[in-house]
Amino acid sequence: MRVFLLIGPPGAGKGTQARKLVEKYGWSYIATGDLLREEIRRGTPLGQQIQKIVEGGRLVPDEIIVQVVASYLDAGRDYLLDGFPRTVGQAEALKELLRQIGGEIGGAFLLEVPEETLIERMIGRAKIEGRTDDTPETLGVRLREYQEKTAPLVAYYEKEGKLHRVSGVGTVEEVFERLNSKVEFLLTEVHE
Ligand code: ADP
Repeated sequence: MRVFLLIGPPGAGKGTQARKLVEKYGWSYIATGDLLREEIRRGTPLGQQIQKIVEGGRLVPDEIIVQVVASYLDAGRDYLLDGFPRTVGQAEALKELLRQIGGEIGGAFLLEVPEETLIERMIGRAKIEGRTDDTPETLGVRLREYQEKTAPLVAYYEKEGKLHRVSGVGTVEEVFERLNSKVEFLLTEVHE
């Protein structure tokens, strides 16, 4: 069982690329942001607990998100995780989960996009999708959360030898091609 990760700041295009990747490679898809928004929409106890946090642009506590992801991971499949892990604590929890079910990380793709471009894209998306956390007020919070809590994952996965940097600038197809060439390389590598 292998798990591929998509890491990048809000607005980097993770969701768009993730959908194309899972379609092409047949991986199961877990997008933690979508799962959390669905809990909020359904008004479950978890949804009520996290609504203010998510809408304020902050990260939900590691214990909560780790439990959610653990409940979806199944040893018999390969996955693309979008938006998880987002902290070093979550990365360590994922490592332990994978150890327990006999899985491994196939690769962690970092989508790199300059901050000015991120801001333009998120303002555009707010108008189209009407996501309640895509407001100008929360954009700054989300970018700061990313810099403080998620950016350290870059060094973490670099040290693990799993990090693959991909430029997220250009058209959807251009970025997808860059990701594809990394994935093809990883899939043809010999694994003992
Ligand atoms: P984006 O990457 O554009 O911010 P997501 O849909 O991935 O959008 O996430 C939206 C929100 O969901 C985050 O701002 C955060 O509040 C919450 N969230 C998603 N994944 C995680 C996670 N792994 N840990 C903590 N909070 C998360």
